[in-house]
Amino acid sequence: MSGDAGRYVGDYIGRFAPSPTGPLHAGSLVAALASWLDARAHGGQWLVRIEDVDSPRCLPGMDRVILQQLAACGLWPDAEPVWQSQRGPLYQQALDLLQQTKLVYPCACSRKEIAQAALKLGQAPTRHGELVYPGTCRHGLDGKPARAWRLDIQKSEEKSASRHAAQAQNATFSITNNMLHWADRRLGLQQQNVAQEVGDFVLRRADGLWAYQLAVVVDDAAQGITHVVRGEDLADNTPRQILLQQALALATPHYLHTPLVLGVNGEKLSKQNGAQAFDMSMPNAALDAAAKALQLPPVTGSREEKLAYWIKAWHGIYNLAP
Ligand code: GLU
Repeated sequence: MSGDAGRYVGDYIGRFAPSPTGPLHAGSLVAALASWLDARAHGGQWLVRIEDVDSPRCLPGMDRVILQQLAACGLWPDAEPVWQSQRGPLYQQALDLLQQTKLVYPCACSRKEIAQAALKLGQAPTRHGELVYPGTCRHGLDGKPARAWRLDIQKSEEKSASRHAAQAQNATFSITNNMLHWADRRLGLQQQNVAQEVGDFVLRRADGLWAYQLAVVVDDAAQGITHVVRGEDLADNTPRQILLQQALALATPHYLHTPLVLGVNGEKLSKQNGAQAFDMSMPNAALDAAAKALQLPPVTGSREEKLAYWIKAWHGIYNLAP
């Protein structure tokens, strides 16, 4: 740490990782601004990664629109952005490793079969209306063709326990009796029983596409990300990502999940419910609104003056993580 007012210099790498499924709106700009401010407040680097693995949901040219929107707000990445669609070999390497270490298994279940099995177990959809995978293929495919690859949560937790014993220190998470506890820099202590609440989750989808969970974990590690700052709607993905980091013997970054912006109907603003792009001809107004959502004080002046002021104010609201 340098002597400069508690700034950390050198080893902080943060990122903003938009999916090009729509333009940035008032909600996603909050995550973009927060991740940029956290990187600047730590004296670190800020990267942009275009998360376009789910190609059917991506809109052509939207990556460029998002980069222009960020530039209009003065949020410039410190390195060339990367596109997940060009990083398939990295994801394949990770899956190969998990296959070798037997922490994944092939799954032959269709959505319908999963729904039927879950119904038999009397299970109702839980998180985001999804069903917990009942583990049908964990012990073999019963002669059926493999469709997807899933992470074996129990084995990953066992591996995590032995890694923890070897490392004997990791302040950011712990697993006790299948309950994963982790500390979020804004939300505080969180917990999730991944086996019970999510089930063995997909890393490579039946349609051959890489799942978000695998791509995000591989890329955060490959890019040396030390601090993840993103919207609170993604907070309950964090335990899955920590387990996957454990399975792949990767480091766990610090996490900070930012407040969501609600629309007039009280629902989270999202591309799915038609949130509008912010007005690029008035970036200062968009930045003011995003800063307000982050509880940063209002300030008049140029875009640069506002950003500089909020970098300083950031320290007082969101503690700087080591
Ligand atoms: N690509 C994700 C999204 O746009 C964000 C992923 C992340 O920050 O981990 O919602």
